[in-house]
Amino acid sequence: MNVLVINCGSSSLKYQVIDSDSEVVLAKGLCERIGIDGRLVYQPKGGEKEITEASMPTHTEAVRMVLDALVNPTTGVLKSLEEIDAVGHRLVHGGEKFAASTLINEKVIAAVEECSDLAPLHNPANLIGVRACQEVLKDVPMVGVFDTAFHQTMPKKAYLYGVPYEYYEKYKVRKYGFHGTSHSYVSKRAAEMLNKPYDSLKTIVCHLGNGASICAVENGKSVDTSMGLSPLEGLIMGTRSGDIDPSAVEFMAKKENLSLEEILNVLNKESGVYGISGLSSDFRDLESASKEGDERAKTAREVFCYRTAKYIGSYAAAMNGVDVICFTAGVGENDGRIREGICSYLGYLGITLDENENQKRGEEAVLSVPDSKVTVLLVPTNEELAICRETVALIK
Ligand code: ADP
Repeated sequence: MNVLVINCGSSSLKYQVIDSDSEVVLAKGLCERIGIDGRLVYQPKGGEKEITEASMPTHTEAVRMVLDALVNPTTGVLKSLEEIDAVGHRLVHGGEKFAASTLINEKVIAAVEECSDLAPLHNPANLIGVRACQEVLKDVPMVGVFDTAFHQTMPKKAYLYGVPYEYYEKYKVRKYGFHGTSHSYVSKRAAEMLNKPYDSLKTIVCHLGNGASICAVENGKSVDTSMGLSPLEGLIMGTRSGDIDPSAVEFMAKKENLSLEEILNVLNKESGVYGISGLSSDFRDLESASKEGDERAKTAREVFCYRTAKYIGSYAAAMNGVDVICFTAGVGENDGRIREGICSYLGYLGITLDENENQKRGEEAVLSVPDSKVTVLLVPTNEELAICRETVALIK
């Protein structure tokens, strides 16, 4: 079965075509600057990356261009569009309505629309991708895979905020959590790597990318996670503040004479390690600046490690123990010094990193020494493959 995996944002659309039997990626790429001018990046398996500048007034043209590239007689990977058996869409916010992936139909689209006030930047953009694919691919079955679904197993004690209960009842104000597809994929993979039953492990997954979140997975279920109603809560991230005293928001807005919307923009886009360092959201830049003696870059990395370690400690408490800690996503997969910095706080849990193994990047590895009480793993995430698997499971 060939599955087209789509991750659609407001002006971009990332895609992969995966042969679900072999799980080989036949082609991948993205459309950027949709509605502005338009740029298609296309890379067939084993081939060169092609970049085409072309007008893409809407996502429909973007989808058409992707499909044209896929069936191009010279560089295409499919003979015809009939070879696309299903489409898997990444959908960000399923609220309390979706605890699992689902076949997309009009009722589902309406329900996702209803969740849009919880994710005003993401859900409408995701649905534009769904509509564009429907327009072009007509009757090909489509599946929605939600970032929030995996966390719907969280118990009430974990997802309720300490605010008037009516706000939960009336507006569904609560913790939802994100990166669920990644947390689910990585925690399952960890169990496979260790040859242990998934439903017997206490695992903490650290998804550390530009956006970053942690998840406590107990016996195969998410029981707590660091992101909240929105992806702003939790860890310090590339440009997001993570946890902050709500009163500081009003204080800063007043001092800087900013509206609520403007101060939230600062917390989303100008904060995190970027805000602290005043330099970059990219951990590579921060490391090289630290080496050259930039104190703020060094502090930003320290704050990141400290906050992450505190969350790991709290999730070990939440599960009354931890067997496995997994590192994944851009920073988690590549930055051994950050992993070392985080684990330096975790000796009390009985964690000892293997310094040599911890140099590894981008490949599955056991990073702790054999007699470490808690096993530390590097597990590269693969959200597209996870979406492909979910799609096939529902179509079949
Ligand atoms: P997202 O999907 O949230 O945009 P990614 O998981 O792709 O993010 O992670 C992107 C981040 O990973 C970059 O901003 C950078 O900080 C970090 N990163 C990528 N490669 C490396 C590397 N070799 N060393 C350290 N950090 C890296």
